[in-house]
Amino acid sequence: MQCQTVLPGTECTFWSKSGCIFEGGSCQLIEADCEGCERIVTGTIGQVCSVAPSPSHKWSVGICNFATHRRVEIKTEDLKINPLKASKKAAGGKKK
Ligand code: SF4
Repeated sequence: MQCQTVLPGTECTFWSKSGCIFEGGSCQLIEADCEGCERIVTGTIGQVCSVAPSPSHKWSVGICNFATHRRVEIKTEDLKINPLKASKKAAGGKKK
């Protein structure tokens, strides 16, 4: 249904016939870590996130997985595998 309070007219899974069912009955304002993210929109209560009603929850366990301005960096050196072993392992699964 469409939100009628913070982002009027925006489709939202938390809006029901009885209003916003998210905790506290509303989206929450963005966190300082959100600054620079392309998903920030201006709602009736201020700057909110267009995809996550609680930005503080998104940042409580590390980097927000929806963030457009920050990414988790994975070092490729750590992921190097032996191509011969990988080939044998792949072929091993195809035996009948
Ligand atoms: S996607 Fe994550 S970083 Fe971006 S505004 Fe929403 S909560 Fe903040």
